Amino acid sequence: MSHLTAVFSPEELLKMDGIDELDTMRMQPNPFWNRPRLDITWGLPVMSGLLQSDRISLHQMRLATREELGLYHDPSYIETLELFGNMGSAFSSRFGLDTDECPVFHQVDKYASYPVGATIDAVMGVADGKFEDAMSIIGGFHHAYSSNAGGFCYLNDTVVAIKKFKEKYPNKKVLYLDTDVHHGDATQEAFYHDPSVLTISTHELSMGFFPGTGQPEEAGIGEGKGYSVNIPLPPLTDDFEYWKAFEEIIVPIWLAYKPDLVFWNAGADAHMDDPLADLLLNLDTYHRLSKTVRQLAHLGNKKLVIVGGGGYHPVTAARVWTVLLADLADIALPPLIPAKWIEMCHKYGFEVKRGGWTDRPQRMYAEHESKVKRAVDETIEKVKELIFPTFGLEK
Ligand SMILES: [Zn+2]
Repeated sequence: MSHLTAVFSPEELLKMDGIDELDTMRMQPNPFWNRPRLDITWGLPVMSGLLQSDRISLHQMRLATREELGLYHDPSYIETLELFGNMGSAFSSRFGLDTDECPVFHQVDKYASYPVGATIDAVMGVADGKFEDAMSIIGGFHHAYSSNAGGFCYLNDTVVAIKKFKEKYPNKKVLYLDTDVHHGDATQEAFYHDPSVLTISTHELSMGFFPGTGQPEEAGIGEGKGYSVNIPLPPLTDDFEYWKAFEEIIVPIWLAYKPDLVFWNAGADAHMDDPLADLLLNLDTYHRLSKTVRQLAHLGNKKLVIVGGGGYHPVTAARVWTVLLADLADIALPPLIPAKWIEMCHKYGFEVKRGGWTDRPQRMYAEHESKVKRAVDETIEKVKELIFPTFGLEK
């Protein structure tokens, strides 16, 4: 098979009336998949010509079925979400719904379900060999629990899609790698007992930072002990410190585990521009991440799925995800960011910094540097101590 990367278009979401209600939600910066965020993030790969490549196959999102959602979510939660979506309002804030983070609006159930359908199709298409790898930008809703919405997440596409994969391929091993800046709490919990789904999460952890979980000690339970890996990072962790943790922990565990399928939640919110978080990753970090993840996946059987995850600076998130898609499909990006896209960002009121597909790394102030370094080193030691024995690795 020649190389084929499946990409999922957000067109179905853009057609929904409810999308424009999201613009009026009071939370600032508006963190939802509203029209500006969809247009800006989808517009960049399109206007950069990536979709014209014969290495890409374009797919539409579809709604997940009730049966599929039921692989993880509670039937009464699914029904309530559907009911509220039909009414366009809620009569109770049960299940974490109708909050600032997870507002209820017309067709909220469909808004939440389309990305699940897309992630399922991405995973199953890769698993069944329809395409080599896949990317769905609007996916990675890792804070949705079986009967609870939270952190801008209603339905957990990552868990549903992995469960669907396991239903058809019960003996295959999955690596769920979550580099979104927030801890992948609900996804971790869903597979906490299960050694056939290894979850690895790198995330910021600091006082009051959402969701507040993700300590190294959360390492799995029973047969799953050692198969939940948490690498918490202090605010201001930069490219250098991030790579130290990645290379010292994630690479050896990955090589020892030998996953059959790799599912990467590549949140753009760990980038230094993100308004909701405080890590200092840059575009080069993401570029290196995608190269490394692809390389590691290719050492195995190459089955790789990427979802976009969070990213609350739409202009930066668009650049991050476009770089990841170009790397995944191995397509050269145009030398300059398309002027038409910059115009579109301006139309929505967003500035576009110069710098194209790279940006200047942010240096930490010297006074923070030693503190961050010490914290990251301590984390690396602790994770090695807790996790490495499971994989027969030496510290
Ligand atoms: Zn996030």
